Amino acid sequence: MSDCIFCKITNKEIPSHIVYEDEYTLAFLDITPANKGHTLVIPKHHHVNILDAPEETLKQVIITVKKIAVALSKYADGVSIVQSNKRAAGQEVDHLHFHVIPRTVNDGHKFWKGKPYKNGVAEKVAEKIKTLL
Ligand code: AMP
Ligand code: ZN
Repeated sequence: MSDCIFCKITNKEIPSHIVYEDEYTLAFLDITPANKGHTLVIPKHHHVNILDAPEETLKQVIITVKKIAVALSKYADGVSIVQSNKRAAGQEVDHLHFHVIPRTVNDGHKFWKGKPYKNGVAEKVAEKIKTLL
């Protein structure tokens, strides 16, 4: 898409620090990293997010996500993989991307704070999701 910043990175129209590229996918450094080495993995073809991306594309992308995660795990204590869909989930760039983030013990990042279900609620939520599949 002509006005998509990640398509521009794919087409080398704007600079980026590319760490890996193959026929279908690209991996490059996030310009505002959570930790040094925070990498974004994208399909070269434009899809808005995981909701509109074909399964075949997702297979290609997750293989590259794993490749980057394994590389980062060689210097980090752990690796987080984060992927957001739509504004409510925090998606800012509307070209499918996975954040692959090297983690260190006590780096202070906590992506959300969970709280337990009240009695009987988990069963209802699970049933609802099952009806939507
Ligand atoms: P999200 O909030 O999941 O949509 O993440 C978008 C990410 O893209 C943010 O972490 C930005 O720092 C990153 N980003 C935006 N523009 C660029 C760019 N030109 N090069 C590298 N990363 C970018
Ligand atoms: Zn795009």
